[in-house]
Order: sequence, then structure tokens, then C-alpha cells
Amino acid sequence: ALAASGITRGFSGAKVLHAVDLSVPKGGVLAILGPSGSGKTTLLHILGGLLRPDAGHVELPFERPAFVFQDPLLLPWRTARGNVAFGLAGRRLSRAERLARARSMLVKVGLGHSEAGLYPHQLSGGMKKRVALARALVIEPDLLLLDEAFSALDVGLSREMQQLVRLDAQERGVTVVLVTHDLSEAVRLADEAVVLSGRPGRIVTRLSIDRPSRLRDDAFVEEEIRR
Ligand code: ATP
Repeated sequence: ALAASGITRGFSGAKVLHAVDLSVPKGGVLAILGPSGSGKTTLLHILGGLLRPDAGHVELPFERPAFVFQDPLLLPWRTARGNVAFGLAGRRLSRAERLARARSMLVKVGLGHSEAGLYPHQLSGGMKKRVALARALVIEPDLLLLDEAFSALDVGLSREMQQLVRLDAQERGVTVVLVTHDLSEAVRLADEAVVLSGRPGRIVTRLSIDRPSRLRDDAFVEEEIRR
């Protein structure tokens, strides 16, 4: 399991997170919800080991974490295919094999042959998001950390990408932590959600998501966030 306890973090004296505890079982999907500025991204970066907490501890028993950042951060001098293949650099794979895996992952996120050869400046915002997701999935991560990975996608596409992540989690037992503003995304994807709120942010609500009754849960989460 991914476990964090007593996570506290500030930036230049301003406390952003206070004593946050959470855990996600292996193969579980956790959503982090909360208003803008409550520290969701900061928490995700700490969970993924990109940022150190000022206090507290993270247990990160994973070998292959992958991030999808809010900003897709593609390499401008590489094509979509090259960006995805870049994730496989350092593996004992031939260049042809890396490119083949990149191509097939791009197809899974809905980008075909002609789009695979485009450079980031030739791609729409939503296409860049899809490339970023493909780049994360191609390494077959055991931990997937998503920061607003599906925002800026239209509803149909966003559902498709969510389905892809959900299947990956189910089939390969990937543990997923996602930060989102979108309650329906959390309800559709996650098994459990935590709501961060306040300044400094702390977990004010933890709820397990019972899919069949998701309408009730949607309203419940909204109510919790408004409080
Ligand atoms: P949003 O939903 O708007 O993305 P968030 O809940 O993800 O917000 P964070 O991005 O974690 O919130 O930011 C929380 C607070 O920490 C903000 O006030 C932000 O200005 C501050 N902060 C985050 N990173 C840094 C940094 N590197 N240096 C200084 N302040 C930072």
C-alpha cells in the first residue's frame, strides 16, 4: 500500500498542508478533491516522492511510478511518438521496439499514425494531454499519479481516457492517485476519495465510493466541499 502519515509542508513560511494521513491499497484508486489552493498538487508531488514533506512520512513501495502533470510537459523537439518512446529510454529495448510500443499506446489514447508524427506545437491541448497519458502508461507503471489529467478534454474523450486508466488499474493492479476538480471523474474512477480543505489544507472528509449509488455520492461530495 501507499501510505502517508502526518504530512506537513509549507513554502517560505506559509503552511500548505497540515498533518495529512492517507493510504491507498495496492490496486486501489484514490481521488484527492478540494478547492483550488488547498494543496492537492503539493500532496500528490509528496506522495510521488518529487517533493519532501517538512514533517511526516511516506511509504512508497513502488518500483515504477508515473506522473501525468497538470501541464503535459512534452519535449518540443520530439514528435508525439518520440515523446512517448522517451519514457522507455534506459530500458533494454531496441529503438524499433520502443517506437512500436509508443505507437500502440498512442492508438489506445486515440491518436493514429498521422498524429503520432506531429510535434507538440502541432497538437491541440487535448491531444497533448493524451500524449502525456500515453507516456505515463507506456512504462507500465505500478503507481500512477494523475494531476487533472482529464481536464481540457471534451466529455466523450475524457470518459474514454478514464476508462483506459480504470482498465489498466483493474488488469495490472496499478495503484492510482488522482487530483481532480471534477466530482464525476472522482466518482467514476475512484474507490475512495479524500477532500482537502482549509488553510493549511487537511483532510476534512474521506469517503468510499459506492458506484451503484453514485448520484447520491455526487451530491454528498458537493455538500462536503461547500462546507
Ligand atoms: P489547484 O487546484 O488550483 O491546482 P491545489 O489544491 O493543487 O490548487 P497547490 O498547487 O498544491 O494547490 O498549492 C497550494 C498552495 O501552495 C498555493 O497557495 C500555492 O501558491 C502554494 N505553492 C505550491 N507550490 C509552491 C512553490 N513551489 N513555491 C511556493 N508556493 C507554492
